[in-house]
Amino acid sequence: MAKTVKKFETEVQQLLDLVIHSLYSNKEIFLRELISNASDAIDKIKFESHSNMELLEGNADWKIKLHADKDAGTLTITDNGIGMSMDEVADNIGTIAKSGTKNFVAALKEQNLAENPELIGQFGVGFYASFMVADKVVLTTRRAGEKQYGCRWESTGDGSYSIEECEKETRGTEIVLHLKDEMKEFLDEWKIRSIIKKYSDYVQYPVVMDITRSEPVKDAEGKVIEGGGTIDTTTEETLNSMKAIWTRPKSEITEEEYEEFYKHISHDYDKPLSTIHYSAEGVSEFKAIVYVPSHKPYDLFLRDHKKGVHLYVKRVYITDNCEALLPDYLRFIKGVVDSSDLPLNVSREILQEDVQIKRIQKSLVGKVLSTLAEMKEKNADDYLKFYGEFGPVLKEGIHFDYANKEKLQDLLLYESSKTEKGKFVSLKEYVERMPEGQKEIYFITGMSRESVENSPYMEALRKKDYEVLYMTDPVDEWVVQAVHEYQEKHLKAIDRGDLELDTEEEKKEKEAKKEEAKKEFGGVMEYIQETLKDRVKEVRLSSRLTESACCLVADETGLNANMEKILKAMNQ
Ligand code: ADP
Ligand code: MG
Repeated sequence: MAKTVKKFETEVQQLLDLVIHSLYSNKEIFLRELISNASDAIDKIKFESHSNMELLEGNADWKIKLHADKDAGTLTITDNGIGMSMDEVADNIGTIAKSGTKNFVAALKEQNLAENPELIGQFGVGFYASFMVADKVVLTTRRAGEKQYGCRWESTGDGSYSIEECEKETRGTEIVLHLKDEMKEFLDEWKIRSIIKKYSDYVQYPVVMDITRSEPVKDAEGKVIEGGGTIDTTTEETLNSMKAIWTRPKSEITEEEYEEFYKHISHDYDKPLSTIHYSAEGVSEFKAIVYVPSHKPYDLFLRDHKKGVHLYVKRVYITDNCEALLPDYLRFIKGVVDSSDLPLNVSREILQEDVQIKRIQKSLVGKVLSTLAEMKEKNADDYLKFYGEFGPVLKEGIHFDYANKEKLQDLLLYESSKTEKGKFVSLKEYVERMPEGQKEIYFITGMSRESVENSPYMEALRKKDYEVLYMTDPVDEWVVQAVHEYQEKHLKAIDRGDLELDTEEEKKEKEAKKEEAKKEFGGVMEYIQETLKDRVKEVRLSSRLTESACCLVADETGLNANMEKILKAMNQ
């Protein structure tokens, strides 16, 4: 196939322009990105080769190799990972298909990155980070299983790239960076070593480099020969420790290492809110590091959102999105689990049903929920941040995770008639401050604080000085269908059915008044009932209003107005 020249997608070019022209100073992250891609690519071939050994072509000496050529001014990164087919290159490089870069583009629009270059490094700029240091990038790759041809991709980052078929003997990917004049420092051995230590130490495959040293010539016994001159010897040195971070003792891991690892596996640019590192022994043996992110990914509510927990078996990578490890409502949790009990050749189908996985799930869920509970107690600001980002997802759990319902209920927070805007009350606090005589927990659902605050249903409760929870998130409708009571107190919607706010005495008094009113207004009521008969089920006198003349009330079991709005919005 002949060489074709293609234009970058507009968004990619925007991104590239920024990367190329920005004053962002932390350019060294390009190496982290390329090594992380190489490591991902090796993960993939390892996994695919479980079911198809032929893909290996006898080449399973996993390695990411760096080569600095000072004369040519190039830095080359080579891996023997999965490689890419021609189509994959076209799809993956040159389009905004990838999550990290999607986030970047979103931020580009929102945060004016051009003026805030320091933000760039926080994003998963991915492969394109190469253009921070190189004015020409040449990528050559051959996909595992593709015996005939490889593919060569080349670009100077201004507008277009070329792509063509080429010969490539070894499987995997080679990326040659032609460094800009002012970026030649990245050819320096010590510079490279320090970058690898900083960002890629835990990468599970050796990151190697040929190191040439001049040594004095020695005799057969290893003694230096006086005046014998020097000789150059080259050895391949491994620059990273490769220690899977989760296998190391907690006390030896620094906060920066936890953070770097989080960024590596999550493709997030921000610090996590919370880190959970533990090992389980006994019935189920595994090690886990899981993180609570500090903000939600753009695709949290999309159907194809990938759950974030990676699965390893005895330090061998199995998959990066093991769905069965966490329930859907914790799909935002990122991390790794390394099991000692599972077989290496587990398939996705088996994972869904596996008892070991179920045990791990149970343990992880428990840990995550207790971590959140602790955060809520001890670190209210963090918890509020978490709740703002992930509260709606967590609430799904109340509906689906029966076993943990109580723990989840304790994680709920609501604004109420007794909190300021933006301040919250938990169910526990609500019950603790219930005045004497109040028997139920009152709530109202609606679209916003403003709309529920001004609801006529609030009048009677305000008069009683009873607190009302404002449930203004659409999922709250489902929450209240699952939570009927808390600490033996009934949850009661103030806009559904009858409210029993009164003491016996007050009740009697009101009954009497009602009887009187019936006599007086019976005719009017009948008239209204008759006029509205196709539109309402029943017209009745009520003691619930103190200021408004009338209000609409849903049946205890019927849909309320908010739910009707939500369903309408969902086109049901
Ligand atoms: P991300 O790693 O977040 O997906 P990148 O821009 O770093 O985004 O990479 C884009 C895609 O290009 C990767 O998802 C992968 O499919 C492909 N890719 C990049 N580098 C390699 C490589 N060394 N080997 C195989 N595929 C690669
Ligand atoms: Mg990447």
